[in-house]
Amino acid sequence: MTSLSDELSTLSDIASRRRINTRAILNACFSSVSAAYREFIEWPGIPYDLQPRGFTGEASRALRTNYELLGSREGQSTIRSRIFLNNKGGLCRYCRCLPATTLDHFLPREHYPELSILTSNLIATCPDCNRNKRSLCAIAGVPIAHPLEHEGLPRILHMYFEERGHKMRFELRQMNTISTTRFTTLHNQFTKLNLNWVFGVMSVSEISDRGQILTDLHSDGGARAVSRYLQEEARSPLTSGGFNHWKYVLFDSLARDPYFCDLGTW
Ligand SMILES: [Zn+2]
Repeated sequence: MTSLSDELSTLSDIASRRRINTRAILNACFSSVSAAYREFIEWPGIPYDLQPRGFTGEASRALRTNYELLGSREGQSTIRSRIFLNNKGGLCRYCRCLPATTLDHFLPREHYPELSILTSNLIATCPDCNRNKRSLCAIAGVPIAHPLEHEGLPRILHMYFEERGHKMRFELRQMNTISTTRFTTLHNQFTKLNLNWVFGVMSVSEISDRGQILTDLHSDGGARAVSRYLQEEARSPLTSGGFNHWKYVLFDSLARDPYFCDLGTW
């Protein structure tokens, strides 16, 4: 997480690049915005319940539009590009599936204009997750899990065949070792961002890409050889993304499915 002093110096830098009237408005907001920054950064856990500062009118507009300058310094590594660079693996931090090419305001800038360029509030996402979150959650105020909520979780993501032969279904199952509140935010993320569908589409493509390999393995060594291969394939996503990474869940579940390993379902 970027330090408060770094965040404040970005705020001052961007304000200094605005037109004189806007700059004056931003300067008048500075102490309230820095208090909001401090509150966000020092919040114990994820700041789901942080209260907006209540900026409206021209102050809100000036703060919101600061964001447009975040990636526009010619010839320099911009804050925007640094966030993408620091995003290991380059994938969306919500679905952990598709390439991250946009930034999502975790606390939406419509309601929290004061946080529009706080880098701790910016999450590298794919356009689909960004759009789904904006349309479904910003107004309704449904708390969506922050990427950090995925750390240290027990296995809650599962996959099964809804119909033999075709439809794969991903779902989250509650575990009594995680709180209801935490599970609710994770579940909101899963349903509102349509992750069952996203993981399903990606899974079909992962399996199709391996069609020939699976057929060859099966004709040489039967279901056991297929299962062993799938267990191997589960290792790398487990190391990089943990038990709840969709790709780990996919391969691990397929490796344990005797019908699939016998190529009965594909
Ligand atoms: Zn995504």
